[in-house]
Amino acid sequence: MDISVECPQCGSEVDLAEEDTVFKCLYCGSILKPTGRNRVQSFFISPREPAQKVGKVLIRALNAKLSKQLRIVEHHLLYAPYWRVNGMIFQWAFGRRYFKTASGDKSWEDLKKLRATPWVHTFPAFDASKWGLFSLGLRVQVLKIWPFNKQKMGEDPLLMRQTVSFKEAVDHAKRSITKHTGSGSFDVEMEISELVGERYSLLFFPFYCFTLQNNGKKSEVLVDALSHKVVKGHVDLHELKKNSSGDTIPYKPLGFIPFNCPNCGWEFSFKPRTMIHFCKSCAQAWLERGGSYVPVPYKISLQDRSPTGCKYLAFWKLTAVIKTPEREYRSLNEFYELFPLPRILDQEKIKNRDISFYIPAFRIKNVAIVDRFAARLTQLQPILSEGDPDSAEVLDLSDVWLPLKEAKEMAHVLLFSLTRETHKKTKKAVKTAELRFTGATLLCLPFAEKGIYLRELETDLALQKKALDLD
Ligand SMILES: [Zn+2]
Ligand SMILES: [Zn+2]
Repeated sequence: MDISVECPQCGSEVDLAEEDTVFKCLYCGSILKPTGRNRVQSFFISPREPAQKVGKVLIRALNAKLSKQLRIVEHHLLYAPYWRVNGMIFQWAFGRRYFKTASGDKSWEDLKKLRATPWVHTFPAFDASKWGLFSLGLRVQVLKIWPFNKQKMGEDPLLMRQTVSFKEAVDHAKRSITKHTGSGSFDVEMEISELVGERYSLLFFPFYCFTLQNNGKKSEVLVDALSHKVVKGHVDLHELKKNSSGDTIPYKPLGFIPFNCPNCGWEFSFKPRTMIHFCKSCAQAWLERGGSYVPVPYKISLQDRSPTGCKYLAFWKLTAVIKTPEREYRSLNEFYELFPLPRILDQEKIKNRDISFYIPAFRIKNVAIVDRFAARLTQLQPILSEGDPDSAEVLDLSDVWLPLKEAKEMAHVLLFSLTRETHKKTKKAVKTAELRFTGATLLCLPFAEKGIYLRELETDLALQKKALDLD
């Protein structure tokens, strides 16, 4: 889905890809930061053809079908608000797989499966009990959308009132993502679904409302202004004309701010999908929120033996307490009751240490590989140095894609990644476990490049380069 925006510098209309966090004008070359993309925003979709043309075709078809002499006495362009939610679903399913052994006996094994898929969902943001179009379907994926702007939405458009609040939309999305993954020989005993990186938009979708007349009798017909199909629905035109909600914009359309470090003025590197921008000059990191940049504190794990030319990948290090209805797991020795390591640990040394989750904050191409890496790093609970970034040093820092809120959701997914499919006790604990976070640090870890792998310097854990999506 592309957003059509007007370049604030030269006025040209330029497409901004939905996931882009930086805007570059094709015509004048300006680079700007679109604001509010991490918040709810309002957009509209333009009708494909003018009302007269659609009406003509409609009347011809209706008269032929009903052998009547209908004519259009009034027509209106009407926008109805729909919620659109998109994100990635991470789904862990634990269960049993049944199979036949070589000798023909029935047998089973414990199994766990990770599924990560993009997810898009649209549903009415108005009272749709008398409305036929419950979803805008896949077609919205290829549509162009415009930031909400009443002047550009046509002559005197009527706007249906939004009655489904953001909170209700979130609840609706939560309910919709839980779908069982079990199939055939796989019997699911427990699973979790987490929607990560979700973005909510309010889309004003166009309809034409035609008032038809036949022998003095009036009736109304609603037409989808994109597919031109008749849609079941009822609108109270009188009420809408009186109370069209168009004068108040439900959620702000996007704005623009300079793409420069607010501290020192240095232009950020142009990386279109980065959420957090590092300043190469003063070494501070920034995130756009509510129309301005807010600083994001981060640490760098510098080791004496860090060779020059190593790559730094960002992780959220989240300290957390694992809570189940029965008890809490606060320290490392309690953590290892759930996720044991195959070696003896010095209980004295770990009983006072907190539990940390390491969540990759860079963009990922292969979820399964990166998930395995994050689970191994988290299970090791390494002691890593955390130094302050030094502006004099130019480090090869990866882009940061995952904001903190999303990282917390991923930590919950990681609980399941850490769980062995054969560990009954752990499975029972994580099933109802919740995490209470006590600290969060954005930490850049050094990796040395070796063939197809990147190796973390402290733990020597390897990550396949092809699993990453670096700009
Ligand atoms: Zn321009
Ligand atoms: Zn700076």
